Amino acid sequence: MPSAPHSRTVSRLQPFGSTIFAEMTALATEHDAINLGQGFPDTDGPASMLEAARQAIADGLNQYPPGPGMPVLRHAIAADRLARYGIVHDPEREVLVTVGATEAISAAILGLVEPGAEVVLVEPYYDSYAAAVALAGATWRSVPMAQDGDRFVLDLDALHAAITPKTRMLVVNSPHNPTGTVLTSAELSAVAELACERDLLVLSDEVYEHLVFDGRTHTPMASLPGMYERTVTVSSAAKTFSVTGWKTGWACGPAELVDAVRTAKQFMSFVAGGPFQPAVAHALEHEQAWVVDMRNSLQRKRDLLADALSGAGFGVYSGGGTYFLCAEIPGTGPHNDIEFCRTLPERAGVAAVPISVFTDHPEQWNHMVRFAFCKRDEVLVEAAERLGRLGVSG
Ligand SMILES: *Cc1c(COP(=O)(O)O)cnc(C)c1O
Repeated sequence: MPSAPHSRTVSRLQPFGSTIFAEMTALATEHDAINLGQGFPDTDGPASMLEAARQAIADGLNQYPPGPGMPVLRHAIAADRLARYGIVHDPEREVLVTVGATEAISAAILGLVEPGAEVVLVEPYYDSYAAAVALAGATWRSVPMAQDGDRFVLDLDALHAAITPKTRMLVVNSPHNPTGTVLTSAELSAVAELACERDLLVLSDEVYEHLVFDGRTHTPMASLPGMYERTVTVSSAAKTFSVTGWKTGWACGPAELVDAVRTAKQFMSFVAGGPFQPAVAHALEHEQAWVVDMRNSLQRKRDLLADALSGAGFGVYSGGGTYFLCAEIPGTGPHNDIEFCRTLPERAGVAAVPISVFTDHPEQWNHMVRFAFCKRDEVLVEAAERLGRLGVSG
């Protein structure tokens, strides 16, 4: 919702005044609804990681960590990316610890995109991207994903058409929030070819790198030919280890790009979360089996929710990753996803979020809503039952 005309907020930030998430959460509380609008888990991360954070506090690691992040975490991130993807990063200059992936995204855009330059986003997109572009005084063009049966695909022609001589950066997010889409290797290669051909930087948001289902594997953008030197990869402990409140993230890439991210980052927060850093390093080194278990359990949860939504008449998209499912509102249109989500907590006892708020073309997306399935089994089963009753009562 744009701020009122008398707002004291600077004009470039006025379109970002408030989000729909707070409203949906308030409605869920008011109607005692199960909140599948919120994208965070209701269980804790690995016990040894939580203990490592408590131990770090007890051990006195409570002052400013080094600006780029504690060496133990930078080394663990580099070792993890080498082991899983074969990508080599110098932990001294090519890995930067940030305040969640969110700060890495903002700092990358502020540090690498000049005012007046253009950034291309794929729509629907995570809400911080456009706000960060606006903070940088740059502008964005958003390219809607296309529908192909029950999945979303990149519209490569539209992507090509969106690149202008002013385009500096392309933001890619796979696995994708809010749709759950995992881009295919053909799609990733096409993006890589475009970036090389037009000499663009790529900001690759890979916070859901571990959450890919049905035997898929995650392919990092930086692993494609010609991409390492032009890609800033962003990830975080939030989704991988179920600690969204720790805000421990990172940016990786060639030293010249990471230097630019660090330059912006040092004046946003300088540092944060000292005791969490060795704990996340511990988890990267010792808790990969926990992550595999979580992935398998999330795949079952996705199936449970998808079945319930189909049974209730929603058209469900076959998300291959993340903890979200995107679904078409039941019945024949015209639909308004925002109105639908405003009444769903009272009608069904379940909350969801509208997809159009993640876009610049709401009329193309207002028949869709997003449900999160990162919730305990008993919570999801109850939500499924409630949605099922919605189907029966029309
Ligand atoms: C959750 C999320 C983030 C933010 O991650 P933090 O580490 O909590 O800052 C960034 N991008 C996407 C797509 C997300 O879903």
